[in-house]
Amino acid sequence: MGKTPPPGALEAVYRRLFKAYGRQHWWPAYFPFEVMVGAVLTQSAAWTGVEKAIANLKNAGALSPVGLRALPLAELARLIRPAVYYNAKARKLAALASWLDVRCGDDIGGLIPSDTESLRKELLAVYGIGPETADSILLYALERPVFVIDAYTRRIVERLGLQPAETSYDGYQQLFMSQLLPKVALYNEYHALLVRLGKEVCRGVPLCERCPLLSMCPFGQARASTEKSQPGRLEEASSRPRLTQAARSRMSRSNSSR
Ligand code: SF4
Repeated sequence: MGKTPPPGALEAVYRRLFKAYGRQHWWPAYFPFEVMVGAVLTQSAAWTGVEKAIANLKNAGALSPVGLRALPLAELARLIRPAVYYNAKARKLAALASWLDVRCGDDIGGLIPSDTESLRKELLAVYGIGPETADSILLYALERPVFVIDAYTRRIVERLGLQPAETSYDGYQQLFMSQLLPKVALYNEYHALLVRLGKEVCRGVPLCERCPLLSMCPFGQARASTEKSQPGRLEEASSRPRLTQAARSRMSRSNSSR
């Protein structure tokens, strides 16, 4: 179980990331409904695929709640194919579009008077919307100060030794929201910066020597000192799983050809 991180620790992380990478410009010219669709499509998918799927919906004149509802499910799935898991995601988008119809007659402005906690509960009750998707919709489409937690955030926070005592989604979210002021622009930028660091640097096998957080990261420092005392050891260790994987696929190929 983690200890309570010292006050200011997460602000310090943010300052370093922002200094290193600057603004990330997430969801720049998107309408709220487009952001909602993107939040569903991005589940387990690369952003390039999401962009292609959104472009297909736009070209088909279907990027609106009424447009999505008018499409047969199979056609919707075909249009969003680049975003992977397209059959499941078609059902999720259809459920979201139905919810908007019932909830506010497709007028997203009609959600404004509702408090954030009630909206979050309602979103979580829609088929296919879990905490990360609900919070992405709340933050990026509805501009509510809700911190989004994803796998990158958890990995980075854990390696920094700042993980909360309760390591659930809510525990991580509470950690950020208890240390930071509830500002939409800050949460928007911070999440985007963590995703960038997680994708480019703090990967499964991290590239700590390039990391702006190295001097405050116990995991990265331990790796650096191992590399100093036993050069090549980390590289060797990190290449081992790839060799095993390659050997496995060779074996499976030879098994299937029998
Ligand atoms: S120093 Fe390494 S482990 Fe720590 S956050 Fe940076 S990349 Fe991740």
